Amino acid sequence: MSLMAWQKDLLRWFAKNQRPLPWRRHTRPYEVWVSEIMLQQTQVETMLPYFRRWMRLFPTIAALAKSPEKKVLKAWEGLGYYSRARNLHETAKRIVREHGGAFPRDFETILSLKGIGRYSAGAIASIAFNEPRPIVDGNVFRVLSRLYAIKKPIDIPRNREIFWKLEADLIPPNRARLFNQALMELGALVCAAKNPACALCPLQKHCLAFKNDDPEAYPVREKKKKMVKIIAAAVVISRRGDPTGRPHYLVQQRPLGEIMGGLWEFPEWKLAKDTALDPEKIKHLTLRRVLSDFGMESNGLKEMGRIKRNYTHHLETLHVFGVPAHGRGNPAPTGGWPFAWVTPEKFADYPFSSAHAKIANMIPLTPPVATATTSPC
Ligand code: SF4
Repeated sequence: MSLMAWQKDLLRWFAKNQRPLPWRRHTRPYEVWVSEIMLQQTQVETMLPYFRRWMRLFPTIAALAKSPEKKVLKAWEGLGYYSRARNLHETAKRIVREHGGAFPRDFETILSLKGIGRYSAGAIASIAFNEPRPIVDGNVFRVLSRLYAIKKPIDIPRNREIFWKLEADLIPPNRARLFNQALMELGALVCAAKNPACALCPLQKHCLAFKNDDPEAYPVREKKKKMVKIIAAAVVISRRGDPTGRPHYLVQQRPLGEIMGGLWEFPEWKLAKDTALDPEKIKHLTLRRVLSDFGMESNGLKEMGRIKRNYTHHLETLHVFGVPAHGRGNPAPTGGWPFAWVTPEKFADYPFSSAHAKIANMIPLTPPVATATTSPC
């Protein structure tokens, strides 16, 4: 199959304009795999420091396999979706056990690995092994739908299959690695969702959406996503925990099997869905939860800040309050979750979700209180 003119233009553009990303240097399967999992719902600029740190901490599949889970989760802290870190860890162990630590080449075997779906398997097979396997992410949907003016709504599963089939048919022989990355790179750097840089695009003269002057009409979607607004509250419960009088803070561990299972957090609750609450009502509801879940009466909450959390279908505002427990007994989660009283210096030992890592950062480090000494006269 000879290359179509647009494929040649795209590959030429990619050769000159691709970003020098670390996993592109050697296209090692371990690096491609980790990068693909980290890039799920995270921008390249955000994940790059995580990727570099991960490779320093776990330079090989074997190193990852033998690291304790707590260290793996800590290295993932801030990227969200912690099941992905757990899957990387479990899969590394399986690769060591069943493949002697070498990433398998066979596509069906790659697909059978935990945490690797059709997209990631296609990325690893094509980028690391140059196998002609399609990958279709948001960038590829956008570029192909515009290039060919495909009006089929992409939120209908059978229509998405059209794109998978088209992309598979378009991969030029022996160029899967470059072609797949080039399509995604064009979507990331030029063919943006809003204000695509058509003037700079190597595909401009081939692009039907550009000819029709309506690139932003693609890709077509049938339904608009409805976003639910959530109001939530988290509390930083403190007490003086040792003879030096330094405050300790209560953190609890989410049970395995729940969302973010195994991670540590400051206690938090969802208070309302799609309902406005005034500040006094938010405080009142939070105090009620502190009493019911920790058996702790408190006469005041100190507002520490607010954190916005955006999920696929939720926009959440998390109100953070400080609650001193001094002289109010020994509060503990009534639900029986593991918990600990921790000084800020020790927070680094506890893997938190990104919101709770932000809460930890709101708490100032407190130097040990100097014990009284007798000065010589
Ligand atoms: Fe996208 Fe514009 Fe290029 Fe078409 S010409 S592929 S719409 S950037």
